[in-house]
Amino acid sequence: MAKEKKLVESITSMEEDFAQWYTDVVKKAELTDYTSVKGCMVIKPAGYAIWENIQHELDRRFKETGVENVYLPMLIPESLLQKEKDHVEGFAPEVAWVTHGGLEPLQERMCVRPTSETLFCDFYANDIHSYRDLPKVYNQWCSVMRWEKTTRPFLRSREFLWQEGHTAHATAEEAEARTIQMLNVYADFCEEVLAIPVIKGRKTDKEKFAGAEATYTIESLMHDGKALQSGTSHNFGDGFAKAFDIQYTDKDNTLKYVHQTSWGMTTRMIGAIIMVHGDNSGLVLPPHIAPVQAMVIPIQQKKEGVLDKAAEVKEALVKSGIRARMDDSDKSPGWKFSESEMRGIPVRIELGPKDIEAGQAVIVRRDTREKIAVSLEELNSKVAEVLETMQKDMLERARAHREAHTYTAKTLEEFKDIAENKPGFIKAMWCGDQACEDALKEEAGVTSRCIPFKQEEITCECIYCKKPAKAMVYWGKAY
Ligand SMILES: [Zn+2]
Repeated sequence: MAKEKKLVESITSMEEDFAQWYTDVVKKAELTDYTSVKGCMVIKPAGYAIWENIQHELDRRFKETGVENVYLPMLIPESLLQKEKDHVEGFAPEVAWVTHGGLEPLQERMCVRPTSETLFCDFYANDIHSYRDLPKVYNQWCSVMRWEKTTRPFLRSREFLWQEGHTAHATAEEAEARTIQMLNVYADFCEEVLAIPVIKGRKTDKEKFAGAEATYTIESLMHDGKALQSGTSHNFGDGFAKAFDIQYTDKDNTLKYVHQTSWGMTTRMIGAIIMVHGDNSGLVLPPHIAPVQAMVIPIQQKKEGVLDKAAEVKEALVKSGIRARMDDSDKSPGWKFSESEMRGIPVRIELGPKDIEAGQAVIVRRDTREKIAVSLEELNSKVAEVLETMQKDMLERARAHREAHTYTAKTLEEFKDIAENKPGFIKAMWCGDQACEDALKEEAGVTSRCIPFKQEEITCECIYCKKPAKAMVYWGKAY
């Protein structure tokens, strides 16, 4: 019994130390591990399987909107990176350089891609000639490298996995429509699949992507009241096209610059899942993304017929389309319960000799621990129903948590008090001046998260300078 307790007891409680709780869950749920490569992580099978599900689901949604996948080199020559001034200034401090090929110094050093706008531009400049070549709606799944100083599994690591979409369009209107379309794809994915509610909006100029005309973002709130930028979509206008000379001959036989977008989502989202849904027993995975949705746990499995029946039950669940497994290891049932909880498996199904005799099994929900006894004939449909209910409940719980941690500030004193004492989003008015944004960061320790599409008029003046307000902004401390 002592050992069984250990698995759970060894996690720090989230109320005590959220950062340590996060690290414990990542380790105990066996999502990642450290290696000799500083600042990088090994993504273990349990973590990678979540990423694979994110990939499949996003990729399917992308393709429904006409996206095609491509692959570009991981190295970018310095001269190419230099072409767009804002872009290189934004990324130069955190790129890793390749200076040698074998033993020979390179004539021109190359960076490991921190993002691939410049390479896509180079490619598009060669590939786009006429209006018939447009639009280009490409995406690549790859890893990128940014030389971060402090790193944390999934949230900030030097190398991480992501997708980066890069599109080229004939008109500004079309580019803007695609930018918003992809933001909506991300928002729907987060809510429907990850059960994470998001705020959609635009980044301020200070927070926008290096080289972009406009950056749109979805922002979510973690359990500790900190914000996480969960996906971004950028409209570049024709800025990159001019820097890279990407022109096409239009129907009227004149040369025109293309309008471009880019958009990305990363392995960070696994960190978001942990921090939005996890509890003091470990990970809680939304059923739609969980690699294993139901774990069948035989009780007294040495008794005749128990393992056979459990295997039969598991097979029937799999056939009905549920991602089910059976834990027939020789660990005790109590240990298996804790382990399945730690890994966030949405439901476990307990099946012992008495259940078999009664023709039933017990479904236990990971999020509420609710126990539901159900006849074996109805098990498949009941599990499917419980998974759907749990998915919806998780989204609603996360939404309720966000609403309970979203505050409105009318005065600077109120703003500072909330920033200091109440972790969460702060809604407050802003004049549009970066000096006020800088001052709020300096004096209250928060950054602007986004200018939400859904605007409210809290007051008519800027929270900081009291000049006329231009917009309501979500502020917060962020990962
Ligand atoms: Zn102001």
